[in-house]
Amino acid sequence: MLQLPAQVHTALSRLSAAGFEAYVVGGCVRDLLMGRTPGDYDVTTGALPEETAAVFASERVIETGKKHGTVTVLLDGMPLEITTFRVDGAYADARHPDAVTFTRSLREDLARRDFTMNALAWSPAAGLVDPFGGEADIRAQTIRCVGAPDARFREDALRIARCLRFSAVLGFGVEPATAAAARANRALLRRVSAERVSEELKKLVCGGDVRRVMLTETDILGEVLPELLPMCGFDQRNKHHIYDVLEHCAAACETVPAEPDLRLAALLHDVGKPDCFFTDADGVGHFYGHAQRGAEMVEPMLRRLRFDNESRERITELVRRHDMRIEPTEKGVLRALRRFGPEFFFQLLALKRADALAHAPGPNTDERVERCAALDALGRALLARQACFSLRDLAVNGRDLLDAGMAPGPAVGQALDALLDAVTDGAVENEKAALLAYWAAQTP
Ligand code: ATP
Ligand code: MG
Repeated sequence: MLQLPAQVHTALSRLSAAGFEAYVVGGCVRDLLMGRTPGDYDVTTGALPEETAAVFASERVIETGKKHGTVTVLLDGMPLEITTFRVDGAYADARHPDAVTFTRSLREDLARRDFTMNALAWSPAAGLVDPFGGEADIRAQTIRCVGAPDARFREDALRIARCLRFSAVLGFGVEPATAAAARANRALLRRVSAERVSEELKKLVCGGDVRRVMLTETDILGEVLPELLPMCGFDQRNKHHIYDVLEHCAAACETVPAEPDLRLAALLHDVGKPDCFFTDADGVGHFYGHAQRGAEMVEPMLRRLRFDNESRERITELVRRHDMRIEPTEKGVLRALRRFGPEFFFQLLALKRADALAHAPGPNTDERVERCAALDALGRALLARQACFSLRDLAVNGRDLLDAGMAPGPAVGQALDALLDAVTDGAVENEKAALLAYWAAQTP
């Protein structure tokens, strides 16, 4: 017996009372069998979209993707997608089926699904419906295509990206024939829209097993992230490094908290290294300017992958600043908080820490990690006592300066900046009268 939310139960029983087969299906069944909490619940049914809409006529029904057989029903505040059993037609473009046909057969619907672990359905009446051995594959932690892997990846190359993503997120291995077909058809990934690939990539990097997948499937990922390829096997010729550039970045990626921007920044932080490499007279490798070079590479890369502006700018800036030295003093941290804002500041620290930990163990690494901990503690203490590090926190604003007799114009902004500098540097208290007195004293 699977534990389903009440609304999902209601949907299944109302369809079945109206004489239609209805099941929960796909990822939610997989997750429930694995003891994971499903992100959402999908219902599949023998009812045609109009029939589904009629069964839920008393509820809010949104005909989201009627052409594909999907009706969204709002049950007690929960939007639930109910999709008619369907068979996909031929695929001409390695991504979209040319036509969709409805069927009254659950088995046909399950057969079109990508992996055995996702081709599972369950209902209170029928129990688990598992025609392709998905439950056994979940138990064996294996990703296996439904049907002939080569044909399935050619039909829809997004499945190649999904395969790697599930491997990283669930920690599953890939069955050999499925793995071989994914590799053989990897070039088709370039025909999948950048948005869809990026969605998979963001989930992949947040997986607990991202490091393994990055290192074992580099050739597949290289189709959409060709910048990774020169990093692979690139010997750093430096005693502080035990890894090649890609191994180092994959290790850092796995160490930062599982947020897509931070994970991607860690994965790409040294992407500029191969371009900047040189060896000194002693044969030791150096990479001067690699952070800036990396930022110059990451920016167009994320444009190509159609990341939103905010993520693109954040990831690029994290790569650009990953080597920046921040003084572990109150003044140094206040300046960094002022320049970057708290959110970015703590993300940068997480990246710097993970970068340090992905080096050879030893006093050098320990010292870098400790410095990050000290910066983090300083930053938290400053935030806790609501230290002033932005114009918003300053106890005077432009209005106050105008009231004190300053003429309107760009000089007002400059004066506020100068006052914030003075507060950050400890030259004056962040208090209105003190600030106005300080300002008056500085003004001829
Ligand atoms: P999650 O929601 O955790 O990302 P999921 O398996 O539920 O994983 P969805 O994208 O929500 O993935 O898709 C729901 C179901 O639809 C899948 O479990 C699978 O059965 C089927 N499916 C999704 N995408 C494809 C595809 N590209 N090819 C074949 N079947 C697919
Ligand atoms: Mg899902």
